Amino acid sequence: MTDQSETEQATAAAGTDRPEEAPDHPPELMDKLRSLSKQRGFIFQSSEIYGGIGSVYDYGPLGVELKQNIRSAWWEAMVHQRPDIEGLDAGILMNPRVWETSGHVEGFTDPLVECRNCHRRFRADELDEIEAGRPEEQQCPVCGVTGEFTEPRQFNLLFKTFMGAVEDESSVAYLRPETAQGIYVNFRNVQETGRQKIPFGIAQVGKAFRNEITPGNFIFRTREFEQMEMQYFVEPGTDEEWFETWREARMEWLTDSLGIRADRLRFEPHGPDELPHYAKRAVDIQYRFPFGWAEFEGIHNRTDYDLSRHQEESGKKLSYYDQKEERRYVPYVVETSTGLDRTFLVVLADAYEEEEIDGDERTVLRLSPELAPVTAAVFPLVNKEGMPEVSERITEDLREQGFNVSHDDSGSIGRRYRRQDEAGTPFCITVDGQTLDDDTVTVRDRDTTEQDRVAAARLGEYLDDALDG
Ligand code: ATP
Repeated sequence: MTDQSETEQATAAAGTDRPEEAPDHPPELMDKLRSLSKQRGFIFQSSEIYGGIGSVYDYGPLGVELKQNIRSAWWEAMVHQRPDIEGLDAGILMNPRVWETSGHVEGFTDPLVECRNCHRRFRADELDEIEAGRPEEQQCPVCGVTGEFTEPRQFNLLFKTFMGAVEDESSVAYLRPETAQGIYVNFRNVQETGRQKIPFGIAQVGKAFRNEITPGNFIFRTREFEQMEMQYFVEPGTDEEWFETWREARMEWLTDSLGIRADRLRFEPHGPDELPHYAKRAVDIQYRFPFGWAEFEGIHNRTDYDLSRHQEESGKKLSYYDQKEERRYVPYVVETSTGLDRTFLVVLADAYEEEEIDGDERTVLRLSPELAPVTAAVFPLVNKEGMPEVSERITEDLREQGFNVSHDDSGSIGRRYRRQDEAGTPFCITVDGQTLDDDTVTVRDRDTTEQDRVAAARLGEYLDDALDG
């Protein structure tokens, strides 16, 4: 299949819920996202008071909520809605033989070069002239000097540590660079206890670590990140078909459940020379970031590579007995692998808009109500005449009904609206003079800024409708 036909299929599969064409993001959007994230409490630099640490980020009060909502949406679609998929939470530390067998100890490398002039390091495969075999023509992206690069050497991305009291070669352990291996080594455990028959899948969300040479673009490439991976075990020979099924299902989830604009998404298949060592076929789902198209999810046909390798090296059976067919085989695996942090960046970038309303500039995050960190903010119009007491009571009521709501009584109403727009809060509920007479409140819609008058007693229903819609 050609690149173009796969890209076209992506657009078709993605649907056309939002007809108007999504504009290119301006290049400065990354800086704006970074600054909004810090100001509003989505994301902070790790250990900031000590000057930070290379490419590790902390999620603040709004960030953890958004991240949790993305994680839950994935889990809902991949586990709760699927009787054929089981969940798992394996350890970050594993027996080091896992990583020898998977090929990571020897082969999980990137080619590294260093500029002799400024001593900055780069991935050789990201420098065009070096890739093209003309290192003498390569200019350093940092200091601008040309032709001063060292020969590429293979740099292993695994983070090493030691287990136990002795620090020597025999106590080396690795921080996992992907969650998938925890699934493979538990294949039999899960299949048997879940009483699953092939085809079935195992899904996992958890931290992964890679000592990246060139992390960057905010949370796009970091050294510590979270993955959401699902390994789907199938009968050999049905793998191509399952690959197609999952490719389409994943794109549909991104547009329909996460609300990502279809024309900012595309499939990018790997050519035969770009395939990872374990894969027969691979396609990336890319997003049109401000810095260009880039992968944030991969769908891979990993064949029986991993299970066969672990079976060989551990001496333990990792095959499956098909009772109907009366035959035993090592299943093939179709993997869907996505970064939670990268998906977070996609969601944030896609939701971010600046616009003018009644002569005022505003920044708004058009997050879907299911993903928004806070579903509604409740305000007293003024801090007197009993309004704060009523708005606090309404906040408490909504909390008891299970909604994530916040209460804000500081600053002008206009400022409170702006704050909530920047947080992506879909609804602002205001208690005013009329509330004291008839127990109704105004509900302002974040996107249209229009206001409805709603009975306070019906607010739960109102929010439920929005969350279901
Ligand atoms: P890349 O080519 O960007 O390094 P990859 O092809 O090595 O990515 P995979 O090994 O397929 O990525 O990992 C699956 C997903 O995990 C990626 O699509 C991405 O969303 C996420 N991911 C991988 N490396 C990082 C990282 N350093 N920081 C954040 N997310 C990452």
